[in-house]
Amino acid sequence: LPIPYSLLLAFMTIRLRLTLWYTALLGATLIFFSVIVYSALATNLQAQVLQDSQREAVSVANAVSLQIERDLRKLPEGESIEFPSLNYFASSVAVQVINRDGLVVKQSDNLANMTVPGYTSALPSIEQGLTYRYRTVLGEQPLLVYSVPLFIGGQVLGAVQIVHPIGAAEDALAQVGRYLIIGTALSLIVAAVVGALLARRELLPLAEITRTAGGISRATDLDLRLNLEDADTEIGELAATFNEMLDRIQKLFKGQERLVADVSHELRTPLTTIRGNMDLLQRMAGSIRSGPPSEELLHEFADIVDEVESETTRMSTLINDLLLLAQADSGVLKLQMEVVELDTVLLDVYRQARRVADHVKGPGALEIHLGSEDQALVLGDRARLHQLLLNLVDNAIKYTPSGGSITLSLENSGGWVRVAVHDTGIGISPEQQRHIFDRFYRTDKARSREQGGSGLGLSIVAWLAQAHNGRVTVESTPQQGSTFFVWLPEYVPAAGVGDERLIEG
Ligand code: ADP
Repeated sequence: LPIPYSLLLAFMTIRLRLTLWYTALLGATLIFFSVIVYSALATNLQAQVLQDSQREAVSVANAVSLQIERDLRKLPEGESIEFPSLNYFASSVAVQVINRDGLVVKQSDNLANMTVPGYTSALPSIEQGLTYRYRTVLGEQPLLVYSVPLFIGGQVLGAVQIVHPIGAAEDALAQVGRYLIIGTALSLIVAAVVGALLARRELLPLAEITRTAGGISRATDLDLRLNLEDADTEIGELAATFNEMLDRIQKLFKGQERLVADVSHELRTPLTTIRGNMDLLQRMAGSIRSGPPSEELLHEFADIVDEVESETTRMSTLINDLLLLAQADSGVLKLQMEVVELDTVLLDVYRQARRVADHVKGPGALEIHLGSEDQALVLGDRARLHQLLLNLVDNAIKYTPSGGSITLSLENSGGWVRVAVHDTGIGISPEQQRHIFDRFYRTDKARSREQGGSGLGLSIVAWLAQAHNGRVTVESTPQQGSTFFVWLPEYVPAAGVGDERLIEG
């Protein structure tokens, strides 16, 4: 049954896989080189033995045929021929001369009358005047038998056979072969063990990452961080990224916790007030049942209704603001972008500010001015831009005591449109200026609450400005007043595209 590769992988650690891969690779390389070394050596040794045998055989054959020819010339017919001693020619090798019938005519002494196995197999080749070689074994000794034809007067008379012992060469080759096999096997074992250890050492940080991540998810301890020594490696970078991610998650998590706490706190106060007023109303209802209400009771009743109304308004403002910020955070808040004449938006806000100021602080308590008002086009969401400016003006009204003044102005220069909301109010200290754009931050909780604030107004202003590719800055001196600046990129109509305002003008 073939096991699918992916299934096999599932049961292997990275370490095992790495080790297997490079051991296999090393094995293939070593085997390849061993085969090359072994065959080169074998070919070389064989060639050398052949060359030696051939030289020997040719020289013996020459000497023997020379001797025989000389003898033939001297001898009368019918007498036998005396062969030269073969021992003179061959020392390390043995030699024998055979005739065409396969009979051994002469042997060197070192053959000691032994029969070389299969020596007649050379005859067919010799008949045709060709050399012949074969391998055989005599006793324990492997031999190479090399035969050359013996020519006398142009006729093949027989053959000279060189018997070359090749045991030493074959032993040497076998030895080399054994060394190569053992060497390869040992190298592979060492490589596998050392490789596994190295892989383990290199992958140790991964185990550490897994452990830490596990610790975090089990104990939900977001304070834990990875602490790896070699930060420059890829794994070090992974750990750094992981830590950064944890930082972000922790910040978000803390922010979320704080938000929930803040929201609960903000909602509790108005609800407590409303509950208290409900109790009062119940008691009043009791006294009304016993007789017609007095003038005083009716006044009190109206006050209670006012208070409940203002608390519910505060709660719904808070919830609307929260919803807006939540939508902004999650990216679902979509701005309806269009070309907006910001000067007309500012004019609307100015008119609304006068009404609000008269309503909140009493008619004429605050002076509201319109300063320089350039014409300016921006790309944005008209309703949101209105909300942005109104939030700033609302704050200016809330934090400026009666008798003060508020000035709105708009300047358009260098590609930026700058709206300034200036007041002569209580001001903000430099330390507080750093926090006022944070959610729920208020320099004076009681005062802000009294004015109906929740601490979300400026967060919304900052977010809206950013969403329009702009920003908000503040300059303020305590007890003298504050100026909030909103910077938005100016919209420049592309050449050729009709600009309604230019056409109207
Ligand atoms: P709030 O609903 O409390 O007004 P904001 O986010 O609008 O919340 O403002 C945060 C805080 O910044 C306010 O509580 C107030 O302390 C301070 N602040 C904002 N605008 C002004 C201003 N024009 N003058 C003085 N203080 C201001």
